Amino acid sequence: MESGGRRTENPRLPSSVHVRIQMRLIFLGPPGSGKGTQAALLSEKYNVPSISTGDMLRQSVEAQEELGLKAREYMDKGAFVPDELIIAIVKSRLAKPDCEHGFILDGFPRTFAQSEALDALLDSLSYPLDAVINIEVTSEVVLSRFSGRRTCRDCGHIYHIVNLPPKTPGICDDCGGILSQRDDDKPEAITKRLHVYMVQTAPLIQYYQKRGKLISVPGDKEVDVIHQSIVESLGLTERNT
Ligand SMILES: [Zn+2]
Repeated sequence: MESGGRRTENPRLPSSVHVRIQMRLIFLGPPGSGKGTQAALLSEKYNVPSISTGDMLRQSVEAQEELGLKAREYMDKGAFVPDELIIAIVKSRLAKPDCEHGFILDGFPRTFAQSEALDALLDSLSYPLDAVINIEVTSEVVLSRFSGRRTCRDCGHIYHIVNLPPKTPGICDDCGGILSQRDDDKPEAITKRLHVYMVQTAPLIQYYQKRGKLISVPGDKEVDVIHQSIVESLGLTERNT
């Protein structure tokens, strides 16, 4: 991963967007809202790291860091990694030099306790938060996105029966493997995850709204359209070249 001010030019971007912008953001949204995709797009465009709890845990485990190894003990047992430990891992991640000009947190904080701990952490680092982007989608949209998803049993390639269909129904374009619906994508599992989100994470929307940090963006549009509305709400309207 690159750090500091150096980066390779991205030929897809007009040169006008190669400005160093400070950006400290949180992305909120239910599973299937597309927040990971949107976080990745912003991250690439403005050269700030997009940090998801899952990736952070994996990297910490791979680097054999003490915190990561401790977290793995919980994950191996199929248990939740306790907030304290997650906060400690976030703290060590945000202290890395590539976060100096900002970061995008994707999937964190997930609970009210985590958001309070994050506030204290950001205060201690003198990293004030710029905005919290809340991607709004209805449960119906989430369910239809997941229920159309098909995964190749052999190579893991993901398709969608409406949005990204394979050339031959049920067969992977890449390897000829059989496509099936993962248990995680079945309506019962999605309804459960949506419920957890509503109970644990949705209250953060009001919390950040009261603090004047919330930007809500409709998430039932094309990826590019959503990206554009995020860029505009952040006041980063692109200059025409
Ligand atoms: Zn395949």
